Amino acid sequence: MSILIKNIKELIQVRETNVLKVSGADMKELPTIKNAYLLIEHDTIVEYGKMEDCEDIQADKTIDATGKVVLPTWCDSHTHIVYAGNREQEFVDRINGLSYEDIANRGGGILNSAEKLQNTSEEELYNQSVKRLKEVIKLGTGAIEIKSGYGLTVDAELKMLRVIKRLKKEFPVKVKATLLGAHAIPKAYKDNQKAYVDLVVNSMIPKVAEEELAHYIDVFCEKGYFTLEDTERILKAGLAHGLTPKIHVNQFNAFGGVALGVKYNALSVDHLEELSDDDVKALKGSNTMPVALPSCSYFLSIPYSPVRKLMKAGLPVALATDYNPGSTPSGNMNFVVSTACIKMKMTPEEAINAATINGAYAMGISNMYGSICRGKKANIIITKEIPSYHFLPYAFGNNHIETVIINGVEMS
Ligand SMILES: [Zn+2]
Repeated sequence: MSILIKNIKELIQVRETNVLKVSGADMKELPTIKNAYLLIEHDTIVEYGKMEDCEDIQADKTIDATGKVVLPTWCDSHTHIVYAGNREQEFVDRINGLSYEDIANRGGGILNSAEKLQNTSEEELYNQSVKRLKEVIKLGTGAIEIKSGYGLTVDAELKMLRVIKRLKKEFPVKVKATLLGAHAIPKAYKDNQKAYVDLVVNSMIPKVAEEELAHYIDVFCEKGYFTLEDTERILKAGLAHGLTPKIHVNQFNAFGGVALGVKYNALSVDHLEELSDDDVKALKGSNTMPVALPSCSYFLSIPYSPVRKLMKAGLPVALATDYNPGSTPSGNMNFVVSTACIKMKMTPEEAINAATINGAYAMGISNMYGSICRGKKANIIITKEIPSYHFLPYAFGNNHIETVIINGVEMS
């Protein structure tokens, strides 16, 4: 099966060579071709160029994209879409004046989600998660990382990871799985945090590795959650079992988590709402991608990650949703890109680079995803008729997507 998309108003994120990430001032550059065509064969981008060079090309199906923009699908490198139930009551409680801490003390927060998940069957958990995955595919997400972390027991974490594995099997989107056993301290270990870290290190990680259920190891490194020492133990154990670090750091406090991540060659360090000069220094010259999650800042009314500081230092930035029931009940990458422009003062070029090629890098898949490049997977967004690609972040909150193609197949 081949698809020819022709008369494309502007083809976005075209890369002649297979760059794996873009950093610093290069993020301002978003290569495009106006009045373009794109040819897909099976699941692969095989050719593209100017319309005047398209005359002899034949395909099984032709899509006329007059007035429309075509870009690679979003690469959402940080989500928690496998969860049970929702937490809209806590949302209302917060509006009525309770703090995140008050809610956690009342048994809410991550522990609330963990209890619900432990009491939900694997089948039901899968069914709930399918709905969310279908929804984000419609919104243009073609590759997604999904974390465990609402189980907090060996069995429940394995249950979550098996659901992720099934999603990966049943859906054409690229899925990467992360073990986040150290997401919160379970109630039973409230007075013995070390014993819980022991459980993660000695039991959870080996079992997950044995069943090949995850690629990455994550820790919520934050005051009141896991310390630098806990984080280091868990990252070491993960690495010993072939799991690459990809960690939550600096959401509320900067105390060395970024440098620790870099020390263990983390693929990404995510959140960074708080960012010290030492953090920036640690990231320089590393292979670690800083990931900002603006929808989380929006929902919790906490600071936005100072991404300009990172880019000024010559560093790359990726954008992701953090889709989860507590702090970001939205998986809309279009909203993330808009919010990055509106609140973090990223240019549309920087935000689109951050949400495509750099997002792919933060999942370890940018050799095959995240740009329009010959030989890469045909994961494509065709917009509705819009004046320019700047319109995507500008006209926020509206759906500008008409068609999503994943692995060369149009999604309905
Ligand atoms: Zn998260």
